[in-house]
Amino acid sequence: MQIILGLHQVAVRSTNIFLIIEEEITIVDAGFRGSAKRIARAINNLGRSMEEVGLIIITHNHLDHIGGLPGLREITSAKVAIHRADLSYSEEGLPYSGFLKLLLKIPGVSFFWPLIYAKPDDVDIQLEGGEVFSPLGGMEVIHTPGHTPGSVSLFSPQKKLLIVGDILNSGHRDLWLTPKSVSSDVLQARESVKRLAQLDFDILCCGHGKPIIGGASAVLRDWIKRKGL
Ligand SMILES: [Zn+2]
Ligand SMILES: [Zn+2]
Repeated sequence: MQIILGLHQVAVRSTNIFLIIEEEITIVDAGFRGSAKRIARAINNLGRSMEEVGLIIITHNHLDHIGGLPGLREITSAKVAIHRADLSYSEEGLPYSGFLKLLLKIPGVSFFWPLIYAKPDDVDIQLEGGEVFSPLGGMEVIHTPGHTPGSVSLFSPQKKLLIVGDILNSGHRDLWLTPKSVSSDVLQARESVKRLAQLDFDILCCGHGKPIIGGASAVLRDWIKRKGL
């Protein structure tokens, strides 16, 4: 699905992956483990090749967004960027809460998911927030913690476009905060969303669900009012 010229959304097993097709290709998020082939096919279908991928930005260190990274590493030499706060986990402080942590305690589960979260050695660029990458006429990294401590959003003022990972999910012109069971800090997530609502954007792209196209920042502000956040 093309969102605007040069920006495509590919859904693999319900996780959205964004392809920014410019002279150099940028991928936002890697999907679940095994998504690399689908991503490569989508890029090939656009008449481009994986060798042209220069940058992979991961919005947050959850298995449905990072799982496809080892596969992408095998077929690109792209630099990988993720926020540093999503890398500083011990086994006990995994970027998962609630049921996911419990799931990982089941013997054998971590054996089947060897790379379930990225570690510092898996990335090239540790983000802080405030960086500006060249795609989409300048794409600013905004640190929006709460879903995970190192969740980031990507904002292009020129294209009036915001990519938010899982800090918000969407569908049918409505929005959702991710539930407590898969969030690191729900109150922090609300604050992050309120900060994003101060930006001016027409298009909102979420980690799951369809993008909101047209007047998206007004939709977000309305939603915040309606929910009493
Ligand atoms: Zn997700
Ligand atoms: Zn997530």
